[in-house]
Amino acid sequence: MIQTSRDHESTIHDTLKTVFGFQTFRPNQESIIKNILDGRDIFAVMPTGGGKSLCYQLPATVMHGTAVVISPLISLMKDQVDAAVENGIHAAFMNSSMDADEVSDVYRMLKYNKIRLLYIAPERFAMPHFLERLKTAAISLFAIDEAHCISEWGHDFRPDYLGLSLIPEMFPDVPVAAFTATATQRVQEDIINKIGLRKPHIVRASFNRPNLFYEVKTKSRVESQILEFLRDRPGESGIIYRTTRDSVMETADFLKSKGIAALPYHAGLSADERNKNQEAFNRDEAQVIVATIAFGMGIDKSNLRFVIHADLPKNIEAYYQETGRAGRDGEPAHCLLFFGRGDIPKIRYFINEITDDKERFIAIQKLNQTVGFASHNVCRRRQLLAFFGENYPRDNCGACDICSGSVEQIDITTDAQIIMSAISRTGQRFGTGYIIDIVTGADTKRIRELGHNEIKTYGTGKGRDKKYWRSVVDELIAQKAVMQEGDPYPVLKITQKGSDILFGGERIMALRKEGVKAKTPRKTDEFEEYDRTLFERLRNVRKRIAEGQKAYPYIILSDRTLHEMCRRFPSTLSGMRKISGVGDAKLERYGEDFIREIKLYLNENRISIPEGESGDPGRPVLAQKKKKGETVEETYEFFKGGMSLEDIAKLRSLAPSTIASHMERLILDGRDIDMDRLVDPEKRQEIEKFFLSIEGWNLNPVVEHFNGTVSYEEARLVRAHLHRNHQA
Ligand code: ADP
Ligand code: ZN
Repeated sequence: MIQTSRDHESTIHDTLKTVFGFQTFRPNQESIIKNILDGRDIFAVMPTGGGKSLCYQLPATVMHGTAVVISPLISLMKDQVDAAVENGIHAAFMNSSMDADEVSDVYRMLKYNKIRLLYIAPERFAMPHFLERLKTAAISLFAIDEAHCISEWGHDFRPDYLGLSLIPEMFPDVPVAAFTATATQRVQEDIINKIGLRKPHIVRASFNRPNLFYEVKTKSRVESQILEFLRDRPGESGIIYRTTRDSVMETADFLKSKGIAALPYHAGLSADERNKNQEAFNRDEAQVIVATIAFGMGIDKSNLRFVIHADLPKNIEAYYQETGRAGRDGEPAHCLLFFGRGDIPKIRYFINEITDDKERFIAIQKLNQTVGFASHNVCRRRQLLAFFGENYPRDNCGACDICSGSVEQIDITTDAQIIMSAISRTGQRFGTGYIIDIVTGADTKRIRELGHNEIKTYGTGKGRDKKYWRSVVDELIAQKAVMQEGDPYPVLKITQKGSDILFGGERIMALRKEGVKAKTPRKTDEFEEYDRTLFERLRNVRKRIAEGQKAYPYIILSDRTLHEMCRRFPSTLSGMRKISGVGDAKLERYGEDFIREIKLYLNENRISIPEGESGDPGRPVLAQKKKKGETVEETYEFFKGGMSLEDIAKLRSLAPSTIASHMERLILDGRDIDMDRLVDPEKRQEIEKFFLSIEGWNLNPVVEHFNGTVSYEEARLVRAHLHRNHQA
């Protein structure tokens, strides 16, 4: 069956809506799906919550034959199959938990082409004759989940995965798509080679998770602080991480005594108890799990609204992975870290026990990075992304405590000037230790020999200790006022930003340390409010359905879908159909249940919804004023629907430059935007070339250079595209 790209285009958009109930693709999904349909292999790194499953589930529903998904965790297979079945997809799994009869059943269905999606554990690929048996069936696609497990360079090597290298040999005509949420360049190459992917289409998605709000609070009485946080969020689901088993038990008991449905989870509990607690959590019977990091692999619950770290995490990467479990459904979620300097000596103690010098050094560096993340006055998101080598393009992320201005800051300009003046007066040739010696007026032989006890700044910082001055230098480095150059003995140099502070009257702020009560962060305006009372009621409807279906609530419908119902109040089937996450199967099964509850609620509260056309749910009643994020989304939807920028501007009575600014933001956010529709490809190349040949990113020189053949809008969009690609 040969399809043209144009056929693909309409097929996959229809399927996205009818089967999955979504209006638009998340970044990269569309290109991955198209490439699979074209028969190409895929290698994709996408963050948790990026929507990897859809990338193979959608092709599975439109291709001929069965898509085989290799997934390492038996516990998650059932969830995945349940979720697919809820969407009306014929899905099954095959793993060691099944008896021979059950396995033969699956083989039979396979033979008669009755399964669209088959989840298989990797160890089966090492079994004799398994692949030959598979070969007798029509296989549409192989999808390898957690593909980093095949690499010994990764952190999760599983020898079972090595058997997967037989797939491309045995199935030369079937595309193989490998997915992972973590892979360095080296692991990426290893995965591609080990599996034997054939010229794969490679995707490295941004690791930014725009719906997560990052906040660091000073740790004082952490259990009461947690309680206060939870009281603001009645009924919301989340994880609280603690480092030791004892503290897990204490915190869980404390919360229970305050009426919070909290359960513990750590490796010291019996397997039974751990399962029981996780089940209760998945079913929304327990609101929170208090856990050590043993609670990790195997969490599939998409509606976690927060992840709290009550103690300092092991390192930044772990912090990113652990917080990444929040908000997989794309709705806002909160990541809160309680940071106390009191945690540092404990960790240092364990680090000092490490005998290998190199390992100990690495551990100290990692600790310093984590402390830096918590204590520097730099956007938390920017810091996290920088850790993965990604440059966050915006000045203000709008969704961390620093950017939203909810942290208390102090002016450190004078002290910064003292440090930088010492750096400058000694010719930018010395490292941190020496500069601090000068500032604190240390009487050392070297300083005397070099005559640095004569300079003006010598001893001006005597009033504070070396530790303090080191923190000032750290802050200057973190904020890029000073940089380190040279290895292994780096010297401090002043950057342009630093010289603006030293000579140009610019101020520099740091976070106020311990003991200050932070203001509560203002809500990010990216996301709309929803009717919380109705949400409670719909949640109960969902829970009832889930119990009846013996499935988890989040598999029936995501929080995101319920939130949308609580903004739009759909009271007809056609209105319900427009809610994101409601595909045909779910509409038929559950549509009426939710509509009934919504109507009841509207009647009880005498709320009337403006009549829209043909059962349209109308604009949200709650959100009178359109929020910025929403109007950008609207532009995105119109654009995806095939409209030009001019038409969108006309339709919405907005200036073309406004629409262009929406597109710019969408491009920078890494959305799937067909650039060719925005700027003629040849012209774009010319503009790109010119941008790269000049200094800076101003638009004026570009527009001037092309003598009016290139508009500001065009230049702007190409610039965004360039930025985005440079960062990938
Ligand atoms: P990952 O495996 O990458 O962590 P999932 O495949 O579990 O992510 O997807 C995370 C959540 O996002 C799921 O609830 C899924 O239904 C939802 N999702 C996936 N794609 C889309 C989309 N295009 N629009 C809206 N929600 C989506
Ligand atoms: Zn920020």
